[in-house]
This record gives sequence, C-alpha cells and structure tokens, in this order.
Amino acid sequence: MKLPYFFAKRFVAGETADQAIEVVKKLNQEGIKTTLDLLGENVQTKEQADQAVDEYKVLFEKMKASAVDSGVSIKLTQLGLDFGMDFCVERTKKVLQMAKEHNMFVRIDMEGSKYTDVTIHVFSKLKEKFDNVGLVLQAYLYRSEKDVQSMIDKKASIRVCKGAYKESPSIAHQSMQEIRKSYMNMVQKLLLAGCKVGIATHDDELIDWACQWTKEQNIDGVLYEFQMLYGLRKNKALELVKNGYRVRSYVPFGTHWFPYFYRRLRERKENIFFVIKSLLVD
Ligand SMILES: Cc1cc2nc3c(=O)[nH]c(=O)nc-3n(C[C@H](O)[C@H](O)[C@H](O)COP(=O)(O)OP(=O)(O)OC[C@H]3O[C@@H](n4cnc5c(N)ncnc54)[C@H](O)[C@@H]3O)c2cc1C
Repeated sequence: MKLPYFFAKRFVAGETADQAIEVVKKLNQEGIKTTLDLLGENVQTKEQADQAVDEYKVLFEKMKASAVDSGVSIKLTQLGLDFGMDFCVERTKKVLQMAKEHNMFVRIDMEGSKYTDVTIHVFSKLKEKFDNVGLVLQAYLYRSEKDVQSMIDKKASIRVCKGAYKESPSIAHQSMQEIRKSYMNMVQKLLLAGCKVGIATHDDELIDWACQWTKEQNIDGVLYEFQMLYGLRKNKALELVKNGYRVRSYVPFGTHWFPYFYRRLRERKENIFFVIKSLLVD
C-alpha cells in the first residue's frame, strides 16, 4: 500500500518539479540557497535510471527558466549504480554535463555503507573531468577520517553530515558525542585545508560550535555554508541568514519519497509529531 503524499508534505516539497521550484523561489527570497533533490534510489531497471537522467534534463531547464539560486543533489543508486559502476558513471556524466551547461553544481549524496567505496571511486573519477561536482561524507563512519584526507588532496567540495543509515558498531560510531567529535574534526580539517564545506546539521551544539570556531580561526565565509533539510528548523536557518551566514536548504521532491520520509521519522521521534501536527493543522 502506498501512503498518500500528504503524509510526507512536512519534509517533501511536492511531487513535481514545478511545485518544488515554487518552494525554492520562496526560500531564495528569504536569502536561503537551495539544492533540489529529485527523490529516487536503488532503481529496479536500467530504463528507470535513464528515465531519471531525462527527468534531470527537464529539471535543469525549469530551474534555468525560473532563475532560481539552486544546485542539485543526486544519489548514484538512482542513476543505476546497482547495474555496475560503468553504467552509473555514464548516466552521472550526462547529468553533470547538463548541469555544467546551465552553470549549476551537483552534489553526490552518500548512501548506506555498502556504497561508500564505490561512491567515492565514482566521484574521484568524475572530479577529474568536472569542476561542478561535490560529495558528502558521513561523520559516523570510522573511515571518514581517512576519506577526508583523500578529499583534501583533491580539493573537493564536501558536505559533512552525521549519516542517516543504520550502520553496525564495527564500522560506525553509535554515540552522539563520538559522532559530534568526528563531525567537528572533519569540518576543521577540511576548512583548514581550504576545501569548501557544507555544514549539514540541525544540531545546535554543532551549529554553535561552527559559528564560534570559524570566527576564532578567521575562516573565509565563502568557504562554508550551513545546510538544513526542507521542513526542519526554518527559524534557525533564518536566524543564521540574519547573522550573515550562508544557508542552503535541501529540497526533496518527487513521487518516490517513502525511503527519504522513513529516514526522517527514524532518526528523530519528534519528526513523527511534526507529521501528525501537519496532518491535523492543514
Ligand atoms: C542538507 C543535508 C543533507 C544531508 N545529506 C545526507 C547524505 O547525503 N547522506 C546521509 O547519510 N545523510 C544525509 N543527511 C542526514 C544526516 O546524516 C542526519 O541523519 C540528519 O541531518 C540528522 O542529524 P542532525 O545533525 O541534523 O541532528 P540530529 O542528530 O537528528 O539531532 C541532534 C540534536 O539536534 C537538535 N535538533 C535536531 N533537529 C532539530 C529540530 N528539527 N528542531 C530542534 N532541534 C533539533 C536537537 O537538540 C537534537 O537532539 C543530510 C542532512 C542534511 C541537513
């Protein structure tokens, strides 16, 4: 049984690109940049991967036509990673090429640990050819410390997040304090090496730390931005904008919203109450 979209509307900006672009326009007017995410992951057929490429083409054209200040976030399993790396690289190249023609940036989201190695490999290959691509690293993985170093060597643009998938203690920190410690280390290393960093979190402890630390170290404001998910902590985002920080909202849309929606509910029980409230209020 498929849940109707209104269950997800708290976190998902619409089922169509046009609906999401309207949301983006409003965020841009409030001084918030965005990254649009056409929802979809682990496609079941090669045709679905090609269809995703076609949908990105339409999305880029609509973004250009509406002159929004937005990039795009993609998942490699939406572009056929489960059908082999070469298959996925070909599709991802097409998306990056289209984005480049429209002067837009594409960030490759990081998925579950089964895909970490191959995602980094695909990114590294594409980074040699494209300057409009960035990656995500997850602070909960022990390996990320080493991955940060290899991203510094590539002068890569990195979004640092805690990590949204259920991972085993053999590969990932489980305690919030350990994850925060790893998060701070990663951000520090990347910024001190001059890499661009997306500080992707809703966590006040990390946001306050980042504001303080970047100030103390006199880190150039063009090197970093705060990133939050659509539907979460809008007031905090506006407060950061007011205080002169760059802020970007991750705006997911599309009909394949269930896995994304489920991750939001799983990671924070308050999100379940947000959904119930939004169902009752509108
Ligand atoms: C822009 C963006 C992109 C992302 N991309 C990826 C990706 O590619 N791969 C991936 O695995 N994960 C991704 N994530 C998800 C991320 O890994 C975390 O699962 C998610 O952000 C939850 O962690 P958190 O640090 O935001 O806060 P949490 O760990 O959920 O919360 C920590 C504390 O922060 C405060 N807090 C959190 N939310 C709120 C709220 N709504 N209101 C008030 N206080 C709050 C509370 O004090 C809470 O106890 C992304 C997240 C963002 C923001």
